[in-house]
Amino acid sequence: MTARVLVVDDVPPNVKLLEAKLNSEYFDVLTAYSGPEALDIIAREHPDIVLLDVMMPGMDGFEVCRRIKSDAATAHIPVIMVTALDQPSDRVAGLEAGADDFLTKPVQDLALFARVKSLVRLKVMLDELRNREATGANMGWENPDDNTPFEQSLPTDASILIVDEQERVMERIARALGGVGSLTFLNGGDDVADRAREKNFDLIIVSLTMRNTDGLRVCSKLRTFEETRHVPILVMVDDGNSKMLVRALEMGVNDYVVRPVDRMEFLARVKTQLKRKEYSDKLWEKFHVSMQLATTDAVTGLYNRHYLTSHMETRLDTANIAGKPLSVLMMDIDHFKAVNDTYGHAAGDMVLKEFANRIAKNIRGVDLAARYGGEEFVVMMPETATDWATMIGDRLRQEVCDHPFDIGRDHDPITITVSIGVATSFEEDAGMTPGQLLESADKALYKAKEGGRNRVIVAN
Ligand code: GH3
Ligand code: MG
Ligand code: MG
Repeated sequence: MTARVLVVDDVPPNVKLLEAKLNSEYFDVLTAYSGPEALDIIAREHPDIVLLDVMMPGMDGFEVCRRIKSDAATAHIPVIMVTALDQPSDRVAGLEAGADDFLTKPVQDLALFARVKSLVRLKVMLDELRNREATGANMGWENPDDNTPFEQSLPTDASILIVDEQERVMERIARALGGVGSLTFLNGGDDVADRAREKNFDLIIVSLTMRNTDGLRVCSKLRTFEETRHVPILVMVDDGNSKMLVRALEMGVNDYVVRPVDRMEFLARVKTQLKRKEYSDKLWEKFHVSMQLATTDAVTGLYNRHYLTSHMETRLDTANIAGKPLSVLMMDIDHFKAVNDTYGHAAGDMVLKEFANRIAKNIRGVDLAARYGGEEFVVMMPETATDWATMIGDRLRQEVCDHPFDIGRDHDPITITVSIGVATSFEEDAGMTPGQLLESADKALYKAKEGGRNRVIVAN
């Protein structure tokens, strides 16, 4: 995975050094020697990530970071602050200015690549989600407009799993994390990863220096299980054990701290991971909600017409290739206008909802029910021949006319009937489009209406 990295530092040799390191790992590097120049390049080039020196004359790194993060056009670009080793307070100040991570000078290769790659991976995912959201907006999907900015996404009820064999260490971690979420401790064992699946953790912290448990194996299992694949992992390693750390990072561990652990840094990294998780969870959720809004009908909860026809296209292709029939029922409530005229629109809506419920109860899981129009509904039945589809249609017809519909307390339940047209696509119809199949069912429906309503007619 490559990316465009902007390196900002007022000291040219520092810039050259980072540029060379990043080039060796095939990153595309841009450079700037002052804050204003950096902002200029960011606005023009939209790099994937910014490495930002803190100490610069004129506009310092904190100010540059604040400006990047307060501009909606650039706020999503990850920023790594590069601080002097003897200024630990700078790291925290950097995170407060909105930085996504920090590195200390002299910059170690391992730390540099680990942090850059981790942030690039995250950015790729977030960019993808943002793109989908934009596509959705173009298609007229509504978006729930909860736009909590990243900095404010620290969850209040995070649950964190900590895996370490030493009670002493766990106590210290508990103290360092203070009120950040609820903590669960596991002191190693072969079933650590399995137990991690049982609960929805927001972060898993794993020690890589346990005696009786292979911490790397725990991480690799966590990355393969469906339930824990996307849960951030923070590992703790001993200073100098870079071989182990490299393996862990290759497995997709999100971040690390080196022992002896700096308490402030540890807390900052934990919070950052929790924020990222919360932020991407929210984006996913938004995506799913807008998907749902785009595919379902609000009144009945069934799929909408747009979803039906696009899905039917795929199902017809599959059916044709497999040489299997696919049937549709086109249904229209009889004299529905009279229901509205006599009892009011609200009563009409109640009938539509109840009608949808009865459809849903009488079809199989593989069948798909959709509201096709006002009081028209379609059921698509894969791998279903005409006789079977007709039988299901008639069972539904009976289910509707045999049991009167509730329309509120002011009226007695009313009798409703439905007319149904059946059409089937056979193997020999290969190439039949959803439009043709639905039109054929619609013609049969028309005949059912003409023939006196409350009946099922098969297309010829
Ligand atoms: P037919 O037996 O020939 O189908 O007669 P019909 O009265 O059912 O058909 P028509 O197409 O004349 O009328 C359909 C009515 O459905 C008119 C429209 O007001 C009503 N309708 C469409 N959508 C909704 C809705 O969402 N809620 C309610 N309450 N009524 C709706
Ligand atoms: Mg009707
Ligand atoms: Mg109608």
